[in-house]
Amino acid sequence: MKKRINKMFVVISILAIVLTTGLVTAVYYNLFRRQVTADLKDYTTLVRDMYADTIPEEWGRKLAEGGIRLTMVDSKGNVLYDNEVDSSELENHSDRPEIREALETGEGESVRRSSTLSINTFYYALRLENGNVLRVAKDAESIVSIFSSAFPTILWILAVLILMSLGMAYFLTEKLIQPIEQLAENMDAECDCTDYEELAPFVKMIREQHQGILQNAQMRQEFTANVSHELKTPLTSISGYAELIETGMASDEDVVRFARGIHNSANRLLTLINDIIRLSELDSGEAEESFEKLNLFELAETCTEMLQMNAGKHDVKITAVGEECYIRGNKQMIEELLYNLCDNAIRYNNAGGSVTVSVKKGSNGECGYGQVMLSVKDTGIGIPEEHRERIFERFYRVDKSRSKSTGGTGLGLAIVKHIVAKHDAVMELDSEVGKGTEIRVIFREYT
Ligand code: ADP
Repeated sequence: MKKRINKMFVVISILAIVLTTGLVTAVYYNLFRRQVTADLKDYTTLVRDMYADTIPEEWGRKLAEGGIRLTMVDSKGNVLYDNEVDSSELENHSDRPEIREALETGEGESVRRSSTLSINTFYYALRLENGNVLRVAKDAESIVSIFSSAFPTILWILAVLILMSLGMAYFLTEKLIQPIEQLAENMDAECDCTDYEELAPFVKMIREQHQGILQNAQMRQEFTANVSHELKTPLTSISGYAELIETGMASDEDVVRFARGIHNSANRLLTLINDIIRLSELDSGEAEESFEKLNLFELAETCTEMLQMNAGKHDVKITAVGEECYIRGNKQMIEELLYNLCDNAIRYNNAGGSVTVSVKKGSNGECGYGQVMLSVKDTGIGIPEEHRERIFERFYRVDKSRSKSTGGTGLGLAIVKHIVAKHDAVMELDSEVGKGTEIRVIFREYT
């Protein structure tokens, strides 16, 4: 960036210098031309006023020595007098632009390049009262020669200016970049201050991203620690039971009991590992993501039927109510979502309680037109206010022992949250301790 800005400064400076030199030369030459023409005009009027008819030999010669050529032509263009060349040798001058112009309008002027490129001849012609035309001419340097004679000086000035602009470019670039460098060094600093207000949104964005990355890293670390901890418990008990059996001191009855313990812990490990794999699949986006038209009510009915036996064990009644509603979704994910919500509603319920899964189209009530609402409502223990925000976090449980004793992993709602996000759906939670909980997921209706 520094190099680029520096280069740009230098290029702009050189361009400006070259352009200015060119323009100044052009303006100067224009002025110079005007001055020469004005001088010629003065000479001509002077000659006219002093020697309108005949120009004295002596005087003409002197003027010729001074580089001024006098010519007198008649109204037809025939040369009557010339102080440099014998007039009889000169051809008719009526085609010379300045003379033609003077014959037509009274005065005329022109500039012609002489044989050498560096000299221009300036002409001024004036019609006299007798109809003749008096012309005065003078050689002067052309723009090329003025420029080439000034060229060495211009080169010097250019070199000095370029050196100066290089120094300035370096200085300005440093000054321009300094606040950005300072900012880069203090990326973590709390203040949003930057000398360039245009950079403030970038700084904000980078800081937010930075914080996001840090938070993510922290979350990953916490997750790893939690996973290790969660895996350790069932493994320790498996190892313990196995050790007891190994000693050979356990009675047959104990062996059966220990084997059941090992079985339960192994199952627990399996569920945990399955949930962890599922979460990481959803996280990495590797999960099956083919979306199709799904009848949400049909899936809810299938889920409640499947959980009937499980609910029975907890003395809980589970029913699905509602109407046919279609959403665009991934079948496996929606089945998992339904299963996790219903499973929780059964596990955190009271004996004799109930779970109602309802599916309905939006109207003006809880959700609007074009939306489909899935609600899983239980008459269970409810979730205290202070835990409601956090139950969707990985491994967060309100009552750890109840979760574990009913086969919970603490990952169910984290998976649900992921699935809801993947379907661009919205989740709402209502709960009252001792009364029950309702979780609603609002999808867009498939049309
Ligand atoms: P778990 O496997 O422990 O059930 P979840 O992620 O599914 O993990 O739920 C997190 C916690 O939220 C649970 O441990 C429980 O305390 C609470 N919870 C979830 N669903 C309900 C519910 N329907 N009623 C009461 N508490 C619930």
